[in-house]
This record gives sequence, C-alpha cells and structure tokens, in this order.
Amino acid sequence: MPTPTLLRWFASRPSSLLARARAPGPEPAPASTSSESAAAAPARKPRELLRIGLPRTLNLWSTHQFWVGFLTALGIDPRRIEFSSDTSDAQGRAFGMGRGTVDCCYPVKCMSGHYGELLAREKRPIDILLTPMIAALPSFLGGHVMASLACPRVMAAPENIRAGFMRSGDAFAEHGIRHVSPLVNLDEPQLAARQLHTALQDVLPGLVPAETQRAVDAGMRALADFGARMRARSLEILEACARENRPCLLVLARPYHMDPGIGHEIEVDLQGCGYPVLWSQYLPTDEALLRWMFRADLDAGLIRSPLDIADVWPSSYSANTNEILWGAKFAARMPWVACVVRLSSYECGMDQPTYTPVQRIVESSGTLFFSFQDLDATKPAGSVKIRVETIDAYLRTMSAGIIERKRAGAAPGCPLLAAGDGVG
Ligand code: SF4
Repeated sequence: MPTPTLLRWFASRPSSLLARARAPGPEPAPASTSSESAAAAPARKPRELLRIGLPRTLNLWSTHQFWVGFLTALGIDPRRIEFSSDTSDAQGRAFGMGRGTVDCCYPVKCMSGHYGELLAREKRPIDILLTPMIAALPSFLGGHVMASLACPRVMAAPENIRAGFMRSGDAFAEHGIRHVSPLVNLDEPQLAARQLHTALQDVLPGLVPAETQRAVDAGMRALADFGARMRARSLEILEACARENRPCLLVLARPYHMDPGIGHEIEVDLQGCGYPVLWSQYLPTDEALLRWMFRADLDAGLIRSPLDIADVWPSSYSANTNEILWGAKFAARMPWVACVVRLSSYECGMDQPTYTPVQRIVESSGTLFFSFQDLDATKPAGSVKIRVETIDAYLRTMSAGIIERKRAGAAPGCPLLAAGDGVG
C-alpha cells in the first residue's frame, strides 16, 4: 500500500465534508476567555470563519480523519482546517530551533517545527492551534487486548512543546492564536465528547454537549470509513499477490513513520523495486481470512480470537505496540508476505522491548526480517540505498521458496484464492 495515499488525503478535502460544513450551524455566542493564552479574538469569530491548525505529527497520522470529520460536523469549513507540512530538516531549522524543552525521542522533538510553522503562517493565519493530548486510541484490536493507550510521550507532547513556545513570552498570544490541547480518550466516544466539549466551549461559540457528541460520532464514522477503505485496499493487494503467487512486504512501525521526515520513505524505495507494501495499521481483518490464518492457534487454545495477542504480548496496554505485535503474527501466517521491514525512531523507549519478540515471531516463520532502528533527522541515503538493494536481492532469490514453504504449512482453503484452489 503506497504511503502517498495518506499523504494525498491530508492535502485534499472531500466535497461531502464541505457540504456538511455549509449546513446551518448554531448562532455565534459571545467569547469566553481561556486560561491557556491571552489571545481571545478567535472565539469572537463565527465558527465558519475560524481557521484551525493541527500539527501533522504523532497520532494525528492515524486519527486525522476523526479530527476532520469532528470539526466539519461542528461547522468548521474544511478548507479552513490546516495541517502543518511533512516533517523535514528545513522545517525544524526554520521554525523549531531553540524551542526544545526536554530531551525526548525524535518524533516528539520534531513537533516544535510543526508548531512554529503553524504559528508563522502569514498567508492563511490560524486562529486556533488544536493539538489534542490523545490518551487512548481507537484500535481494531480493541476488546481483544488489555487497553489501547497512547505512548505517554505522545500524550504529553502538546504541553511539552507548548512550554518551548512560552519560555520567553507567550508566542501564541503574540500571533493572536489560542492553543487548545484537550486530553482525549478516543477509545471511549462518550468520554471523548465530554472532554472535547470542556476544552472547546471557550473557543467555539455556542458549543453544547449534545452537539459535541454528534460531532464525535461523525468523526468516529469518518475514521471507521477510512480504515475500512484502507483495509479493503490491503485485501485487494493480498488477493492479487495470492493470485499471481508473488511477494509483498509488510511495514511494522508506528503510524507517524508514514511521515517522510520520520520514516524517510524507506518503504517507498522498496515499492520502487516493484513490491507491493502493506502497513500493519491497515491489514485486512475479515473474519474468514483471520480464521483461516489463525486456525491452528485457535484449535490449540493458544488464543481466544484471531485478534488476541496474549500468547506473544501479555501486557497489551499500548495501542500502537499491540498493532505492531499483531502485525508480526499476521506476517508470520500470511504466505505472500515474504518480508517484514521494521522501522523505529531514535530514543524510542516503547519499541525497545518489542525488538526481540517481533523479530522472533517473523523469522520463526521463515519470513525475511530487516530492521531500521534509531531513525532521526538524518536520512543516511547511501546506507539506505545499499540496504534496499540488499532486501531486493534477497527477495529476488528467496521469495519463491519462502512463499512455497509458508503455503505448505498453512491450513487448506485460503479465502484469498478462488474456490477449489485453496492452500494446502
Ligand atoms: S512510541 Fe517511541 S517514538 Fe513514539 S512517542 Fe513514544 S517513545 Fe517516542
């Protein structure tokens, strides 16, 4: 699955959302003050004239559809929802220099550049910088794991980065921008609605709880629809690979590794070699397919459902970590996933304990495994090129054998293949 699918989405605004934004909304109400920033002007604007900026960072990469759907349902013109650009060295140098507060992992550090870029926009100046502190995420593994929490560094990042813009004066007030960073549990829509109403009632004129709940529900639907479309596309890719008996690759990484400045587009280089690329966040979860893949584990009583990861990761509290572990299990059982590429960032404490189990799960099935760790600002273009060529060479010589062995060990009746042509 090509990364640009998501990249394009950030840049486009579906016309259906625009139509909804134009629907009649509540009357503007007088502004209330915020304790966060002295700039009260934005709340005096009618909603349809507000311009809202969101940093294209961290878990916004997996929840952007929720925020666009949510804000649009509240009457914000989707053309006035502004995402910062991709992470880049130039962005960090121009807008984030000197704004650091605490030493942190690379993806969190990068957020300063995104904040600075949104504050500095002169052509389309924002009124509100909305940067949610996402405490928990909606996950397709929900109900099968202990919890779906965000990494604590991700959750705290908005306040951490805000501090860097308050050190020598309130940079938000200087630009007439309100900084709003609601703590939000996106895995619990009713709680999320209460949290968002509390945080936004001062900056969105006339906002009431019932309207906030409806907007949260609309955001959840938008997110679910997008996830379903991405999973359907992944399924099509796997069906094509099964039909043609050719290999594909799976990327195991956090959602923000789709950012070209964080993941350095390593998977794009591999796709350029002709291999379809899947991401663990959008693997297909069709019942028949998963029952076929996990039949032996279910029959042996190792797991309670195909989405259960207790057999390999009992402390399943972190949403993104859980999805990486499940992705490793998927790769091990899917014959046409001949290679897994693992990405992780500099100073990521959450990924470290997962390195060994993920590699073991993948390699125990005979699937190729390559890891790019400690990714930071520097794209080591030369070494990435050599490693991409190495992966390509391994796949050219080994993928047919890998697929054959994995097919031989799989249950009969693969749903990816035409009836009567099952694996076995
Ligand atoms: S999961 Fe790792 S890279 Fe991501 S915010 Fe947490 S520590 Fe940083």
